[in-house]
Amino acid sequence: MSWLVQPRLVNDSFSDPGLYLDFRYGRRAILFDLGDVSPLSSRELLRVSHVFVSHTHVDHIAGFDRLFRLCLHRPSPLTLIGPPGFAEQIEHRIRSFTWNLLDESSVDFCLRAMDYDGYRLTRAAECHAREAFARRDVAPPVFPDGIAWMEDEFRIEAVALDHGIPSLAFALREVLQVNVWRAVLTEMDLAPGPWLNEAKRGVRLGLPDDHAIDLPSGSIRLGDLKHRALRVAPGQVVAYVTDAAPHGDNRPKILQLTQRADQLFIEAVFLECDRSLAVASHHLTAWEAGALAREAGVRHVTPFHHSARYLSEPDALRDELYKSFGTADRGAISA
Ligand SMILES: [Zn+2]
Ligand SMILES: [Zn+2]
Repeated sequence: MSWLVQPRLVNDSFSDPGLYLDFRYGRRAILFDLGDVSPLSSRELLRVSHVFVSHTHVDHIAGFDRLFRLCLHRPSPLTLIGPPGFAEQIEHRIRSFTWNLLDESSVDFCLRAMDYDGYRLTRAAECHAREAFARRDVAPPVFPDGIAWMEDEFRIEAVALDHGIPSLAFALREVLQVNVWRAVLTEMDLAPGPWLNEAKRGVRLGLPDDHAIDLPSGSIRLGDLKHRALRVAPGQVVAYVTDAAPHGDNRPKILQLTQRADQLFIEAVFLECDRSLAVASHHLTAWEAGALAREAGVRHVTPFHHSARYLSEPDALRDELYKSFGTADRGAISA
């Protein structure tokens, strides 16, 4: 199976939350949460085009300064999306630095910050390096309800969970997965190249069979390629759920968002026997996280955001989650 993104936790499960979604093609990445990002290289961070931040507790946003600083001389924009009030918080963070060395000759790096209220983007601001990052309000993109970002190949669905404050949970849904039969390509005397990505994109967009795909020499009908050398399947789903109170209002939202995900990354902060602590701090227990994963029918589940109180028994939360999930799925994709 050829996946659109390769997701991995940024840190070990006792350290700051964060998921790095590396696109298999196109030198691009997305981040869910922006806590400590020191395990990521500068090269990996420079690939990040979009960051989706669950909420601004410091363990979910402390990596902002490093990412922002690295991007200062980058021509492509960086888009950050978070809960209500987020754009203003980012603006304040930027204004806490001095920018007198920037002028019209600087690379015009653009930072975009947007608020998402659980249903839609409600506010967007742009800050340009050439304007010393002065805030400029712009109209936020309009997507269908429940979608925080959308492109040709995928969409990012998001819900607002209760964590005492709103905490966003995210799912990347690939629109359609298009795989290539390499052997058939060879039979057809076609060498793989950038044109193949164009063809895959055409299939995802539902372009007609007559659509012509340009080859290094000549062209081919999309339909000829599709019916012989391409195989279309449902797309990849990667879900990320963190900082959610273990109560009835959050459950249906989590279940809907994570339904049949290929990979679910979910917080498992406390053991079920310490449920009172989970309730008091608005976090999930490992048992509840495993039960949610099972009910949502996910294929692989990976726990993270473990409380430091279990450092002396590092596998306890993981064990409880998998017991609740009800499978021997210990080889989850976190490795
Ligand atoms: Zn939190
Ligand atoms: Zn947290």
